[in-house]
Amino acid sequence: MTGPVLDDHCHLDPGRGRGVAAVSEFARAGGTHLLVVNQPSWKLGVEPETGEDFRPVFEATVDVVGRSSEALPGRAWPVLGVHPTLISRLVDERGLAAEDAADLMRAGLDVAAEYAADGPAVALKSGRPHYEVPDAVWDASNAVLRHALSLAAETGVALQLHTESTDDLTEVAEWAADAGLPAERVVKHYAGGRCSGVTPSVIARKDELLDAVGSGEPFLMETDFLDDPDRPGAVLGPKTVPRRTEWLREQGHDEALRTAHVETPRRVYGIDTEAGL
Ligand SMILES: [Zn+2]
Repeated sequence: MTGPVLDDHCHLDPGRGRGVAAVSEFARAGGTHLLVVNQPSWKLGVEPETGEDFRPVFEATVDVVGRSSEALPGRAWPVLGVHPTLISRLVDERGLAAEDAADLMRAGLDVAAEYAADGPAVALKSGRPHYEVPDAVWDASNAVLRHALSLAAETGVALQLHTESTDDLTEVAEWAADAGLPAERVVKHYAGGRCSGVTPSVIARKDELLDAVGSGEPFLMETDFLDDPDRPGAVLGPKTVPRRTEWLREQGHDEALRTAHVETPRRVYGIDTEAGL
């Protein structure tokens, strides 16, 4: 036993993908804890009209998280929110005004926040498109992101962000401070080795991990495993974080691994990855 191994961001699709079987593979490779992010609503065939329409998406994640915990030496937790690229579907395919799309996405986040306030979610999920969008869509997306920061502050959880590729989110860190959320509780998902202003959840590739280790800053490790049978190999597989952890341990990076798997999860999410192992 070499201690906790947390994958900070993965998806599970028990209906179409591997579901808990992927979690068992993660555990056999040495993984102990998982943060499971809900699928984008459209992947479950949900075309939301109201915030309540997102609830089945969140319930599906809470359900698979419960079953995943039984397959782990540690446990899993849900991360719930509204995928930021939904705004393009709403505007481009359904013809909503950007501001109306933002209202709907805020309403979905309000429902997600119920699971953070008195439920199992340890973080909300929001962000903004990673591709070029019209100014109105960009501004509306940032307004949604700022609403998510406020909800995370109110409910006492962290916020995972899907954003453009960047190593500097200091502006978002200022917005977090304005909302009353410590910036270290804002996590850039699919990050490179460093990200100014917020906590990077580093994609578990060797170069990015060595950069994170070299930074001496808090960081997390993730695969963004999609569990999508239509896109096998599009992202890292479920064994990647345990294997890269082992690889870093062989090089003597024990302190950085404690940062990624124990200290940063505690500071960002308030979770104890050592309990019960
Ligand atoms: Zn993801």
